[in-house]
Amino acid sequence: MKKSLRKLSNIAMKKIAKWFVLACALFAFTMTGDILTQGASIPPVGEPHVISTTALHGVPSASLEWGADQLFEDKGIYSFTGRSPVPFTGLSVGWLVIGHDADPTSFEVAIRTRKDEAPWMEWIRFSGDIRPAESPSGLFWSHLYTPSDFGVHTDFEIKIQPPVGMQLTFVRVAVFDNSAVPGATNPYEPLKEPTAITALGAPAQPTIISRLQWLGAEHPWNVSQIPITHAIVHHTVHPNVPRTLAQSKQLMRDIRSGHLARGFGDIGYNFVIDREARIFQGRHNPWLSTTDVQGEHALPANSRSVGIALIGQFQPGVSPTVGHPSELALRSLERLLAWRFSQRALNPLGMANINTAWGTRNIHRIAGHRDVSATACPGDNLQVLLPTIRTNVRNLLPPWLYRVLSMHKMESSIYEPLVSNNYWTLFGSYS
Ligand SMILES: [Zn+2]
Repeated sequence: MKKSLRKLSNIAMKKIAKWFVLACALFAFTMTGDILTQGASIPPVGEPHVISTTALHGVPSASLEWGADQLFEDKGIYSFTGRSPVPFTGLSVGWLVIGHDADPTSFEVAIRTRKDEAPWMEWIRFSGDIRPAESPSGLFWSHLYTPSDFGVHTDFEIKIQPPVGMQLTFVRVAVFDNSAVPGATNPYEPLKEPTAITALGAPAQPTIISRLQWLGAEHPWNVSQIPITHAIVHHTVHPNVPRTLAQSKQLMRDIRSGHLARGFGDIGYNFVIDREARIFQGRHNPWLSTTDVQGEHALPANSRSVGIALIGQFQPGVSPTVGHPSELALRSLERLLAWRFSQRALNPLGMANINTAWGTRNIHRIAGHRDVSATACPGDNLQVLLPTIRTNVRNLLPPWLYRVLSMHKMESSIYEPLVSNNYWTLFGSYS
């Protein structure tokens, strides 16, 4: 009798729990809306508290900030609209919430812009990109927005939807105008290495567009050489459209400005590749011809990895419209990896330990950003190609070199003194 009573009350408890979960879900649903269908007209918000229009390393830029008391919120969605004091080619949104430990990908951000009274461009929906601990600014940041018409815009509308129950307390909109083509006036000359070390028959350095070419000046930055163990592949979350050389150079400058707005000292990636196969040098690197410097692209793996980003958006379900990496871009990525991996005596099919967001992990030396951090980067459509990319890089190496690199001892810590002391030249010749 007692037993059956207990059984009955168990069933009742289960039922109550079921209804409770259902009611909670319903409550959460009615409390939140779709970021774009809800709040169709954004009411005017107060003037931003601070407008600074200081140039960001010589680039016209502005920083607009709203405090907690000026944020308009409806059904958990915060909206802002405004005219920028500086026309812009790129825009990044930063924000804070109470408590700093939220997952940046749990925020949804929608941005659209226009030039003066022209029709608005389509909404671009991002998730948050980085958390406060990942940049000196101490803010969450969105991906970099650039107008899909490559134009210089003046007005913006922005919506931010934090996870249910979370309140925004501060918003910063950073805008910058990189439309001016910089003249190559800087007299800086990169340090020249006496010789580039290339093992016999190993892949040569592919053509790399220098900072002087896309930035107009080297803009040296305090960098340190790192012994890489991995290459981390990214996507930049920009429209998968053809770009002229001038348009890709402008995007490079916008990416760099977006990273400066986060408080980085320079562009975070070591290399960037566009759809047309052009390889751009990213972060300042006086030793580019032989080794890499520490970038800011994949915390906490930055000190041991070279960061290579493909321009494009390769993650289904988010905007800009998803696409696939171009064949041309993939071939450039493989040539770049084959060159650097043979220089640094790294097996492109190998695995090694590296710091990740989940502690030390043994992962492929050619890995995606998502392998070391909680992010969708580099998108499913690029991540799924990594095994093919590794094999193609291997196939670019002369067979004797691949045999050496794949020897077990080369996978151990022995390879590092070999490379750092230039003993690697014993295996090859100077070119
Ligand atoms: Zn990434």
